[in-house]
Amino acid sequence: MSTAITAAVARAKGEPFTIQKARLRGPQDDEVLVRVVATGLCHTDLIVRDQFYPVPLPAVLGHEGAGVVEEVGPNVKNLKPGDHVVLTYGACGYCQPCVGGHGAYCSHFFGLNFGGGDLEGRTAIEDEEGRPLHDHFFAQSSFASHALARENNAIKVPQDAPLELLGPLGCGIQTGAGAVINSLKVTPGSRFASFGAGAVGLSAVMAARVAGASTIIAVDIVPSRLELAKELGATHTVNSREVDMVEAIRDITGGGVDFALESTGHPQVLAGAIEALGTLGAIGVVGAPPLGTKGEFDINGLLLNGRTIRGIVEGDSVPQRFIPQLVELYQQGRFPFDKLVKFYPVEQINEAAEDSTRGVTLKPILRFTHA
Ligand code: NAD
Ligand code: ZN
Repeated sequence: MSTAITAAVARAKGEPFTIQKARLRGPQDDEVLVRVVATGLCHTDLIVRDQFYPVPLPAVLGHEGAGVVEEVGPNVKNLKPGDHVVLTYGACGYCQPCVGGHGAYCSHFFGLNFGGGDLEGRTAIEDEEGRPLHDHFFAQSSFASHALARENNAIKVPQDAPLELLGPLGCGIQTGAGAVINSLKVTPGSRFASFGAGAVGLSAVMAARVAGASTIIAVDIVPSRLELAKELGATHTVNSREVDMVEAIRDITGGGVDFALESTGHPQVLAGAIEALGTLGAIGVVGAPPLGTKGEFDINGLLLNGRTIRGIVEGDSVPQRFIPQLVELYQQGRFPFDKLVKFYPVEQINEAAEDSTRGVTLKPILRFTHA
């Protein structure tokens, strides 16, 4: 059985999304059909629309979905209709990284999340004329009223949590928070800097406070974001358009930070961020420039100071464990990520994208209304 759906479709490179009717096939194997309540819009959706990453178009993007399970495939064990779920990235569950608990580095990550179909290239969505639309984006394609996910990327969340808010936990927010808590393992009393105070960078700021860092520095070029960073736990802010950020950070910390996260995606910011590390400092890289982009750093600066640079996907999150933890921290008032969010009806997806690009909205969430 297929379901009539409404989807926001990325039709061609750099062009606005179009809202259209389509059909989605029913769940098979370990798939679940989810009625999408709301989906976050992430920078990654826009760089795919603009073809930094070669996902075939036209496609239904969207990868921060939250919704209610409507139907489950025959091999689903732990989810049932009515469950509230947050949709996260796809991982095969069988490869070496997956069995080691590192699904974010799944050997099939690109195919499962950016392939535009399943690993065999099959799609599940057809437009009204019966032509396939590329889908399976992050194993969900949740810019649609209904989405198919697999049991292992549909994460059950408590019924008393505000479902329409939770989708961004599936990507941008778990990326920033997980980078701090799971990957860098920021320690109590340490000095942390977030290069970029967007949705990812500010999630890192909130997580650094949860982790007990004593100095938390937010770096950005947008004053309103730096203001919000202070509200969320930054002890210092640096506007890198106005001052030399490396000098400013060395002044604040008396030498450099212990931990840093780069989420701007700009190689020159990364280069500066590495310089702003203190002795034995470690930096996580999550900002995503176009494929093939190279970065530079001073090799002796790295080795003589014992610094570490590492790439991080999805905050090394094991979503089944980490997403419910973030929900709990939110419910306790210790991780107020609702302050990043602005809601839009899905029909205003292009306004939401524009607001995000211009820096007016940090984390747009698109709402779907169901009859
Ligand atoms: P965003 O656009 O909200 O945040 C980027 C921030 O960087 C903005 O606040 C912007 O003002 C700031 N910035 C830009 N140029 C700067 C400069 N020269 N100096 C200082 N600040 C500058 O985006 P986001 O949603 O926070 O995502 C951040 C990045 O992380 C994106 O590249 C996104 O694709 C990537 N991402 C990666 C993963 C992963 O798993 N690695 C997951 C989600 C997102
Ligand atoms: Zn895998």
